[in-house]
Order: sequence, then structure tokens, then C-alpha cells
Amino acid sequence: MDQQKWTCPQCSRVISPDDSVVRRRGGLSHLDCQRPRVLTAEERLLLFTYCQDHRVACITCSTSLYLYELGRHTHRCPWCRSDLTDSVRDHLYDCATLPEKIRRRAKAVREAARTLVKQSHQLRDKADVVMREAEAAVAALRETMHSSRNGSPRRETEYKGWRIEPQSYETDRARWCPKVLVRSAERGTVHTHIVLGRVFRTKQDADAYASKWSKELIDNHGSAL
Ligand SMILES: [Zn+2]
Ligand SMILES: [Zn+2]
Ligand SMILES: [Zn+2]
Repeated sequence: MDQQKWTCPQCSRVISPDDSVVRRRGGLSHLDCQRPRVLTAEERLLLFTYCQDHRVACITCSTSLYLYELGRHTHRCPWCRSDLTDSVRDHLYDCATLPEKIRRRAKAVREAARTLVKQSHQLRDKADVVMREAEAAVAALRETMHSSRNGSPRRETEYKGWRIEPQSYETDRARWCPKVLVRSAERGTVHTHIVLGRVFRTKQDADAYASKWSKELIDNHGSAL
């Protein structure tokens, strides 16, 4: 049987099952021809929501890096510029912080995309079915993420015995002020910090900044808090 593979109409290269793809005019293209394995929007959103404070290893540098230290779109090691996309993706699908339902759905989306690429486009009808399944999987994932955001999962992280909970708030249209709750159960202390003079366009950005800022605070003044 002629198992002709999908060729990206933009760069003319054969699409591999590990590449991130989009549907265009009934066919498949790379999401980004320059970086075929680039993380999808859903994967980036999940990482941003759950994994900013998690680490991935850079083998070249024999070190591990927080996700917030990597470029948001490129996921390169800041020191040696190695592309850590594959490690970041492996982390995502293995991360225990993701709610089980979301992780299952995210995996289903990834699997559906891989099946889609492996499906020869000679088998047109079957490919169409798989495409529809892949799209349904993405829609289901988005819905699960949306409802769990509304159910406000507490995005607490632990750092040197302190619990950090970002609570950034909207000041006016599309401007978010970083706010964070820092508490220690052991010492029975709670602090709320608002980082004045900095605003961000999204809650995620403001929260990420607030978390990072409070870690520096704990590093520098932890014992005096
Ligand atoms: Zn391409
Ligand atoms: Zn994680
Ligand atoms: Zn490195």
C-alpha cells in the first residue's frame, strides 16, 4: 500500500509525528516550520498555569532550570542556548501538579495529533475522522481548563518552608498588579505583598512576577519575615 506521508506545504518537508501541526486547507502544516516541535498554545498555557516553578534539566550545562528562566516561546537554556523543548514537553506530560483530568485530556490531544500525522492522506476518509477527533480533543481540553480555572484551583507553591500564593488583581482595563500571599504554617505568619510600580497585561504574567519576587524576598529576608 502506498503510505504517502504528509508534506508541509510551507516548507516542503515531511511532517514527523513529533511535530506540532495545524490543519490548513484540508491538509496539515507545521505550526512553526522553523521549529517543527514547538509547543502548542495549549501546552504553553498548561506550563504557564502549573509549571512556572518546576525545573527541567539542561544536560549540556549539568544543571536544572526553572521554567520561568527559559524563553516563553523558544524554551532555550539561558546559558548554552540548547533547545529544551523536548524536556519541557516531557515534564508537562509527567507533571504531578496537573489535575489528573487535565493531564489525561492533554495526553489525548497529543496522541490524536500523532495519529493524525501517521495517517496517510491516501486514506482520506479515515484521516478526516482522525482530524475531527483531534479537534474534539482540543476543545475538551480547553473546556476542562476553563472550568478548573473558574473553580479556582489554589496555585500555591512551596518555597523554603513558605507557601506562596499569587493573587494578582486587575487595576483597570487589562492591567494586572502583582500581589502575593506568603505564609508559613510553622511560624503562623501571613504576609500579603503588593508589588507597586509594576503592571502586566495578563494575570498570569503578574502572578509569575509576584511569585518570583516573593522568592527573592524569602531568599533575602526570610528569617526576618
Ligand atoms: Zn513546514
Ligand atoms: Zn510541572
Ligand atoms: Zn544549558
